Amino acid sequence: MTTKILVSACLMGHAVRYDGQSKPLLHPAIDRWRQEGRLVTICPEMSAGMPVPRPPAEIASGLSGPDVVDGAATVVENTGRDVTRAFLEAAENALALARETGCRFALLIDGSPSCGSGFVYDGTFSGARHKGQGVTAALLARNGIEVYSDREIEALIERVDGPHETD
Ligand code: SF4
Repeated sequence: MTTKILVSACLMGHAVRYDGQSKPLLHPAIDRWRQEGRLVTICPEMSAGMPVPRPPAEIASGLSGPDVVDGAATVVENTGRDVTRAFLEAAENALALARETGCRFALLIDGSPSCGSGFVYDGTFSGARHKGQGVTAALLARNGIEVYSDREIEALIERVDGPHETD
């Protein structure tokens, strides 16, 4: 079976970020995987009904995605609105799609309170960031999906195209 990869929609050039922008990742492997039908694209936040544009949101109190999944942290917008429930729904939608389509890997943009896997912002909206995962990345990883950030695409190429992986 073809190895499938769940991908952040904004990395694929979709203008779905909170600020109405995209952050396309240009790499020959992305083009090839697309042609091979390996890529399954989702914006978790949009899948949970969040609009574009939308207020920026961060995981509160310097905590991280696993804490949100465990019910021990919240996600808040810079307006102060608690959007934890929507972020959990976003993560559940991404996990459901990954399972339906057989994705074993995920390639997600770093820094997002949903998709981040190396770092997230600390909830103060000051630009301060710390090591940690977003809510979607945390739920995927907890369910056995290997999560790679956009900065780790070379490592993902090794896993997907390497000698130990077969179609
Ligand atoms: S939720 Fe993920 S895919 Fe959607 S805009 Fe944020 S980083 Fe991109």
